[in-house]
Amino acid sequence: MSVPASRLTSLMNSFPRFDVLSSPSAIQTKIVASADLPTRFGEFRVVAFSMGFDGKEHIALVHGNVENKENIPVRIHSECLTGDALGSYRCDCRDQLEAALRYIGNEEHGIVLYLRQEGRGIGLVNKIRAYALQDQGLDTVEANHALGFADDERDYSAAAGMLNALRVKSIKLLSNNPRKLEGLQRLGIVITERMPHIMPANRHNHKYLETKARKSGHILPLDTLAADYGREAYS
Ligand SMILES: [Zn+2]
Repeated sequence: MSVPASRLTSLMNSFPRFDVLSSPSAIQTKIVASADLPTRFGEFRVVAFSMGFDGKEHIALVHGNVENKENIPVRIHSECLTGDALGSYRCDCRDQLEAALRYIGNEEHGIVLYLRQEGRGIGLVNKIRAYALQDQGLDTVEANHALGFADDERDYSAAAGMLNALRVKSIKLLSNNPRKLEGLQRLGIVITERMPHIMPANRHNHKYLETKARKSGHILPLDTLAADYGREAYS
């Protein structure tokens, strides 16, 4: 079941709710196109957004009717070309994206926001530079710092603006990252529940996940990660 095209067309022409938002970037977020997107994970509607402030093109995959609904399951995914498209084992991005689409595709309704902020906001080329530094022994946080970046440069005002443009009342967020919750709540998004989104580790991303937990505050079970170590995540 997907959102009726006529409904989204009317949303495209209306203003997003921004009364609770203080961020100018969220205010400028508008729906500019939408189309059906049947996927291997379920039926979705792909909704494209215009970000007046930086020209970035973000999309939402919307399953079912989410307008004016409470407790909508939402996953906010940041683009990872090497993981999402190429199947890299250096991170867990593709596993997380597929699991979110599969879960939401089987629910009554839900949303996956796909944000074009590659490499936690540092961009594709800099992410590859960070990988090169990690190959020399630095962890992901140290590599980002060596390149002059914070360990996480992501900005959730686009996500908040998109959720408001879709007129979602409150969400259940699939995330292990408390910073993401805090960032969204600061922007006025009502989060009724955090749903853990934990993927099995493999021998290539074990250290990356451990750093996420130890240094970046992600809520991940370190003992389980250790138990998973050595497994390939082929499934
Ligand atoms: Zn990734």
